[in-house]
Amino acid sequence: DELISQIAAGEVVERPASVVRELVDNALDAGATQITVRLLAGGVRLISVEDDGGGIPREELPVALKRHATSKISSLQELESVGTMGFRGEALAAINSIAELALLSRTSGQSSAFFLDGRSGELKPAARGTGTTVEVKELFFSTPARRKFLKTDATELAHCIEAVRRHALARPEVGFAIWHEGKLVEQWRACPGEAGRDQRLADVLGEDFIEQSVAVDHGAGGAVRVTGRAGIPDAARSRADQQFCYVNGRYVRDKVLTHAARSAYEDVLHGQRQPVYALYVEIDPTRVDVNVHPTKIEVRFRDSREVHQAVRHAVENALAAPRA
Ligand code: ADP
Ligand code: MG
Repeated sequence: DELISQIAAGEVVERPASVVRELVDNALDAGATQITVRLLAGGVRLISVEDDGGGIPREELPVALKRHATSKISSLQELESVGTMGFRGEALAAINSIAELALLSRTSGQSSAFFLDGRSGELKPAARGTGTTVEVKELFFSTPARRKFLKTDATELAHCIEAVRRHALARPEVGFAIWHEGKLVEQWRACPGEAGRDQRLADVLGEDFIEQSVAVDHGAGGAVRVTGRAGIPDAARSRADQQFCYVNGRYVRDKVLTHAARSAYEDVLHGQRQPVYALYVEIDPTRVDVNVHPTKIEVRFRDSREVHQAVRHAVENALAAPRA
């Protein structure tokens, strides 16, 4: 079972940033409004993710570390329309098999928090407010071959920050902070309300992104709605790693979406290559399969032509519209 867990872990956890992604997913699923990530040595020595979400009841703490234990769906039918980031019940079990994991959590109904040591299974009362802290130490300590593939701390840190940035662009109403070696390296304050998304885009992508981009809003009331902002290309801003696509709030890397966006840029602006954009696709959950890959970063659309057209039109209309 240990071996099976470690093999599964290889699919979910490639590097510290993969752990950060899974833990922040869990914090968001728990309804957190503030998420703090603390790292040592690019996340290899320590990743701690603290949230103010609903917490895990004492009796469920050991269950959370079991393989295929998820509190989020209970039937195959629910998988068709999963609304949470997690649903496979794999992440904590996988991480626990390749690192030293500890949970500290308190629900609002409990008079104290509880601490669970993932190795020994020791469960004891502890102190903290409502919410959960997951601590992951010495990633890949038992798989030195894997550990050798990691890059410098600076590179791993950059990947961890990128993982949080992707979440931050999806959830402006949640505040995020990232600490490395005791120093605050990124902070995005909660941006509630209607203007929240643009504010978060400005905070994450730079103040000038709003001026150098146009609003995208297409397909309201239809099968596929596309919103967000499309950068007006300029050489300084065009960067290969600044294309953000979301499907129903989930960050995805998807060729259908990037191809559709690129086609729109080519049509309207003739051959601009790597414009910065953030596109948010909303689609009936039964028309998209998010259970394609353990990391859930890939999706499969039931009708990819429909999605391609919607995104292409959305970006074309935005770029072609006269600017105020
Ligand atoms: P999944 O997210 O797919 O359900 P995970 O292995 O990531 O699986 O987490 C297992 C379970 O642990 C979750 O279903 C949830 O019940 C609980 N859990 C994990 N992290 C948190 C958190 N930060 N707050 C509340 N519950 C959590
Ligand atoms: Mg999860």
